[in-house]
Order: sequence, then structure tokens, then C-alpha cells
Amino acid sequence: MLVLLWLAEGESPRPPPELDCLARHYAVRAAYENGAWFAELPDGRRVPFDDGRSKTFDERLAAPDVQDMFAIPYRTGAIRPVETENQDPGRVRVEAIFAATYGPRPASRQIRLRFLGIPVRVHRKIAPALERVAARLARARQRDASLAPFLRRLSGGFAARKIAGTERTSAHAYGIAIDLHTSVSDYWRWDKDKKWRNRIPQAIVDAFEAEGFIWGGRWYHYDTMHFEYRPELFGPPCREPTGSRRPLGNRGI
Ligand SMILES: [Zn+2]
Repeated sequence: MLVLLWLAEGESPRPPPELDCLARHYAVRAAYENGAWFAELPDGRRVPFDDGRSKTFDERLAAPDVQDMFAIPYRTGAIRPVETENQDPGRVRVEAIFAATYGPRPASRQIRLRFLGIPVRVHRKIAPALERVAARLARARQRDASLAPFLRRLSGGFAARKIAGTERTSAHAYGIAIDLHTSVSDYWRWDKDKKWRNRIPQAIVDAFEAEGFIWGGRWYHYDTMHFEYRPELFGPPCREPTGSRRPLGNRGI
């Protein structure tokens, strides 16, 4: 009996923590076969946790395994210039996992809501987290009026499109990203020298990150208007965004 128990344990090791995190927030479950871990999609397809290939950053973007999504840790805290090439935590996404979680037909799953009074369309799954961000920002703006100009307009929410200059699906096409207004933002493709720069205040970044949104200003390929719901990256192994256990309130954000 003892031997059998020991064998049963030996056959079911704990999944890597990153895979556990992913399964908490996405439509995948951790699967184990022949000594290898996979993220299994609802239709039975499997994404390897580790495909055993060593890759350049561009190869990771083009053909990632689960581990590649977590290869660059996402760090919160004081905003600092990002000067290390390809230091872009969160830019690597396994598209099949996002499509399974936010699709099929992500366009049909969007809701229109008001974010600090500004109409925006996002995926219904992220609405509660975005509502909590709005509440944080409203309080921050009350304390500090200098935040107001950054929160008057948005430049985007849901948009069925590829990432500029690529064939990869944008996070906006799933409805999990919003953009602050371009007039207060910096984007590497717009700048001649492509040297990191930023005007978005710390308090705004903090409010989004507290609820599981990553910020494009933490990227070498900076996109400072861009906030994207990626709760799996707030680890290790994976942080539950602070307000996420609160009940769903109204959608008037
Ligand atoms: Zn964006």
C-alpha cells in the first residue's frame, strides 16, 4: 500500500508554478505526460510548457511555449528607463491560450462601459478588474489634480487588429487592453531615436498594476499608453490582484 501511494505521488508531480498561475486565469489546465508538462486547451490541444528549443527574442515572439511567456519577469515599483534590449515582459503570448480564453469571436464578447466617464469597449471578463482600476484612479485624481489631464480621453480599447508591423494578434483584438490618450504617451515606433521615454505618472501605473494590468512603459519597445490585463505575470508564482475577491459592482466605470 505504501509503495502504491509512493508511486502515485511519483507519477503526479506538482506543475511548474507558472503553469498553475496560467490555469487560474486562462482556459487551460496543467497536463502531464511522459515527464513533460503542457497547458491543455478545452479542445484537447496541448501547448508544451517547455518545448526544449533555445530561442532568440524574435523566435520567442513568433513561436513561444508557456515558459517563454514568463521568461522576462514583470517588475512593479518605481518607473525607470528600460535600456536593456528586448526587455519587454509580457510581450510574448501564446496566441492559442488567449484565443481559447477570450474567444471564439472575441468581438461578440465585448461590452461597452464607461471608464472614468469615458466610453470604451473591452472583453466582459476584464470589466470587473478595470472597474477597480477606475475606482483607484478616481481616488488618486482627487488627491492629486495633476493626474487629470492624463485621464480625460482614451485612444483605444477593443480593436480587431494585428500588432503594428507584425502578423501577431494585438491584445486589443481580445479586448484585454486599453490605451490612454496618444497626446500624453510615447511609442517607440513614433520616435526617431527609439530611446525609452515616458510622461505617464507613477500613480496611474500603480493603479493599473495593482489590479493585474501590465504597462507598456515597462518595455524596451515602449508603448506608454498601453495597459493590458495579464494577471498571470504578477508573481512569483502568481499574485492575486489585491481587489479581485470583491463582488462585481456596477459597470459604470
Ligand atoms: Zn495598446
